[in-house]
Amino acid sequence: MIHWLSDYNYDFALASVPIQVILLLVYCLRRNLPVRQSSSFLNMMIANLTMTISDIVSCEMNEVWTDFPLWVMYAINMLYFVSFIIRGWALFDYAAESCHSYQKFGRYTRVVMAVPAVVVLIMILSTPWTGMIFSFSPTEGYFNCYLYQSIYFSTYFYIAATFVFILVSFKDMSTRLRIGLLTSNGLLLAGIILRKLFFHVLVTSYFSVLVILIIFLSSENPDLYRHRQIRFFNREAFRRIGTEYLSHEMPFSCVILAAQNYEMLKHIYGTTRVYERLQIVGDRMIAAFNQSFVFYLRNGNFVILNNGAVGDEPDKVALQWKQDIERLLADHDIVKLNFSVLLLPSEVAGNDINAIENLVHYSLRNSDTINQKGEYLITKELVQKLDRESYIRLALKHALDNRSIQVYFQPIYSIGEKRAVGAEALARLFDDKLGAVSPDEFIRVAEKNGDIVRLGRQIFESVCEFIQSAHLQERGIRRVHVNLSPAQCMDTQLAPDFAEIAKRYQVPMSMIDFEITETAIDDHRAILAQIYRLKESGAELSLDDFGTGTSNLTRLMKLPIDLVKLDLTVVHAYFNGEAAILPDLIRMFHNADMKIVVEGVETEEMMRRLSDLSCNYQQGYYFSRPVSPTDFLDYLNRTETHSTS
Ligand code: C2E
Ligand code: MG
Ligand code: MG
Repeated sequence: MIHWLSDYNYDFALASVPIQVILLLVYCLRRNLPVRQSSSFLNMMIANLTMTISDIVSCEMNEVWTDFPLWVMYAINMLYFVSFIIRGWALFDYAAESCHSYQKFGRYTRVVMAVPAVVVLIMILSTPWTGMIFSFSPTEGYFNCYLYQSIYFSTYFYIAATFVFILVSFKDMSTRLRIGLLTSNGLLLAGIILRKLFFHVLVTSYFSVLVILIIFLSSENPDLYRHRQIRFFNREAFRRIGTEYLSHEMPFSCVILAAQNYEMLKHIYGTTRVYERLQIVGDRMIAAFNQSFVFYLRNGNFVILNNGAVGDEPDKVALQWKQDIERLLADHDIVKLNFSVLLLPSEVAGNDINAIENLVHYSLRNSDTINQKGEYLITKELVQKLDRESYIRLALKHALDNRSIQVYFQPIYSIGEKRAVGAEALARLFDDKLGAVSPDEFIRVAEKNGDIVRLGRQIFESVCEFIQSAHLQERGIRRVHVNLSPAQCMDTQLAPDFAEIAKRYQVPMSMIDFEITETAIDDHRAILAQIYRLKESGAELSLDDFGTGTSNLTRLMKLPIDLVKLDLTVVHAYFNGEAAILPDLIRMFHNADMKIVVEGVETEEMMRRLSDLSCNYQQGYYFSRPVSPTDFLDYLNRTETHSTS
């Protein structure tokens, strides 16, 4: 056993030293995130280790103080006090950076909040001359002076300030950070109180080690910021460094790279080979763009974060990036990774990390298509489109929750019978801010986020409800056409759900015509399965928007389709003299015994000429625009009077 000179119990302090050294080494050996938070944490670790060692050494030396020159005695005791103060401040500084409090409370907050620590540090450093904190008497040696308590006041002040900052930012913090900061601050307080209660046991540094451990495990472990297989910075790291740029209002740009055919390459060459290749790609980028940060966002996606603004010619810069990256990665490796590249300047990116991340993900998904147009830059227009899209997503959700999506009806007119014999149901979304949103827009949004299934159900219910309550069948409407989108047809419950709804409203399925687009029918087996089931339930099926896609006609003819709707673009092209194919198409479908509805009939002349081409069923503004259920009934009343008169 070591024979200690003083009465102090060093067990806790001594046990904490190797743990602190190991943590410090692990932390320093990995390249950590270059953010302020991490340097505050490093400051705290260094201060705590210095405090622990100088505490033990000074306590021992104070017992035999006459053996050393007086300045050495002052120096070692001052080292302890200085590191004690810095440790308290550094934990506060770490918490303030984590909560973004300096940005919230204004730019001088960091300076103002450092004042108590600086004042006490001055008192400590001047103590050999002023004797404010401690001193040495010729007989007794070391003793505490009248302002000794100020070192505790400084620490209490920072603990209290940390609690306040945590509370102010409580809502914006992740649970992990919240728990990490609250427990670590609480432990620091507990350590100081216990030290006061058991004066002879040096426990403060032990509690500080617990604090360091909690912070290390909850948010400062370098492994949290790296991809597991290829050791590049990951998405979390991108968020933290990005937040740092935003909060210090530093201009930046992101180069967004998506590996083309990534899943297919993994399938062909295996995950290990592809990861090896990604590692090489990433290493080359880090070496070539050593002023920037390279992040790997999984699935073959990289982001390069560059310091500084893009300048006046962003298009050129973007193209330059594309070329640089192509040149950098050109070699003869078998696993060939090609990347689509998009440049996102900070003035386009905005100042919210979540919005930036959404934009990056959107860019990753669409970079290939955008690159194919010869474009490599994310513009303000594109972002505005996305903003609108996210607003529509909210408006749609709100409308679905309140069941306020409306269904309008547009008559399908029979020239032979001189009256409407059908109607197409068209969804309408009205929003206070956006006004009327076109279904082309909100259906696409609903398809993307999966709301389409709920939307489709609500529309179908409204249609059935209207058919039943307005007695449409008795009024000569043989069928109501309902649009189905491909995403909706992927739902295996579609056919049974719709059958159940129709039954509930006592609407025979034979009164419904489901309109499906060519793309839907071309694509998937799952969609075909639903289509067959709907058909089996008695509904009619029509092919919508014919003429807009590039269908294989022989395949289409084999599908269970009763009716083809010729898209208004084909119809209008015929009347503009741009394409003369319309009469041939009509003849072909008639020969195959398929019914036809022509869309986009806008004038009397169009109506007549199409009738001459034997198009009996017509739809378009000439007859009526899509109108509300009430107006549709008015239309029926009016036209009934006309046709009977
Ligand atoms: P669609 O099924 O081809 O519907 C016809 C579209 O042409 C409607 O646009 C209609 O208002 C418009 N239209 C009708 N007559 C004329 C005309 O004479 N001239 C011109 N220029 N346009 C005419 P709308 O209502 O904006 O719908 C657009 C598309 O949104 C629809 O095209 C359909 O694909 C989709 N949609 C609408 N409602 C639904 C729905 O309930 N479910 C699904 N899945 N898609 C829907
Ligand atoms: Mg349609
Ligand atoms: Mg159509």
